[in-house]
Amino acid sequence: MKYDALIVGAGFAGAVCAERFAAAGKRVLIIDKRSHIGGNAFDCHDENGVLIHPYGPHIFHTSGKRIFEYLSNFTDWRPYEHRVLAHVDGELYPIPINRTTINRLYDLDLDEQGVTAYLESVREPRDSVATSEDVVLSSVGHDLCEKFFRGYTQKQWGLDLSELSAGVAARIPTRANDDDRYFTDAFQFMPAQGYTSMFEKMLEHPNIEVRLSEDFRAIRSIVEREHTIYTGPIDAYFDFRFGKLPYRSLFFQHEHLGEVERFQQTGTINYPNDQEYTRITEFKHLTGQQHSGTSIVREYPRAEGDPYYPIPRPENEALFKRYHELAEATPDVTFVGRLAQYRYYNMDQVVGAALKAAEELIE
Ligand code: FAD
Ligand code: UDP
Repeated sequence: MKYDALIVGAGFAGAVCAERFAAAGKRVLIIDKRSHIGGNAFDCHDENGVLIHPYGPHIFHTSGKRIFEYLSNFTDWRPYEHRVLAHVDGELYPIPINRTTINRLYDLDLDEQGVTAYLESVREPRDSVATSEDVVLSSVGHDLCEKFFRGYTQKQWGLDLSELSAGVAARIPTRANDDDRYFTDAFQFMPAQGYTSMFEKMLEHPNIEVRLSEDFRAIRSIVEREHTIYTGPIDAYFDFRFGKLPYRSLFFQHEHLGEVERFQQTGTINYPNDQEYTRITEFKHLTGQQHSGTSIVREYPRAEGDPYYPIPRPENEALFKRYHELAEATPDVTFVGRLAQYRYYNMDQVVGAALKAAEELIE
């Protein structure tokens, strides 16, 4: 049996490519070394019946209408706007920093203009903004940086803000108004029956064969195919020829609390300066599920383990570039996704990248 494409990885990148290929009349084999589809966006019910995200909280948000419409072919949606509080000096404050954060933290009563003026007075402008430290200091200054950013970043990445590219901290805006949503994208929804159900629908096609618990390394020279779409870590594909590309990992500590309706006020609470974990997420906020108990997850960052985050800093970009050049010289393989492209992509960005890659290949 010869396939038009072998797709390695059944997360967003792989599933979108499989769906597009199948819809174009091509036969694909999609494999994953894990025992399930969905990649890191996989969700399932825990042993107490609460819908959880085993690989950490996944909140869908996008400003891309085309991406939202594409995924809408495979799921209904539940409106959900994520809110996050940060635990600082024993109190909870909105993050992204907004008017409430500033007024409560410094016992002020500023209006929006007043907050803008306050931030202007504390910010430490930089001539060039290259690192995440530059981003934070130039927008909120020293004190807010220490309270909300430096410790969290150290925990999350094992690096100082000054050692990370600007894009990392630039994910978090600063606001002078009362908007306390984590994201401001036009489309903020959760898949109504969960991510796994959405992936099942994407992959439900006679032209798609799914094989789970199957490692690419075991079949790479066996499966006959025209083309390979690879969505795993790019350094692994090339047998770490230039050395290991650093990825940050996490340990997820899941816990179920029986007969607790609500554990915390918002979907996520961040712990920038105390605790070994970075944040606690309570899934029922995200999913809207009714249950007499609740399930939470604490995230403990670590160096070793499954690769979850590319680590954006210049030396890593340089090493990635060397792998990328190898990839460019391997025309029968397409590299797409967060690990394969070594980009700090959100889910919607992966969908966008995969749609583009699939379109180009099909043409
Ligand atoms: P993955 O989902 O990682 O899929 C790659 C798949 O390839 C994996 O299933 C892996 O098992 C498989 N694979 C790798 N190597 C092999 C091999 N050799 N053989 C077979 N299979 C292999 N994004 C958002 O938009 N919103 C969020 O709230 C959000 N929260 C996140 C929270 C955490 C803790 C993390 C880690 C990520 C979060 N993301 C979020 C990002 C999101 O997870 C990714 O953008 C998206 O899931 C990446 O999809 P992917 O297909 O590129 O990669
Ligand atoms: N960040 C921080 N404090 C916070 C939230 C975020 O310092 O309370 C920084 C930190 O470096 C983090 C980055 O901003 O890694 C991006 O945060 P985001 O919540 O987008 O991370 P993700 O959800 O991708 O883990």
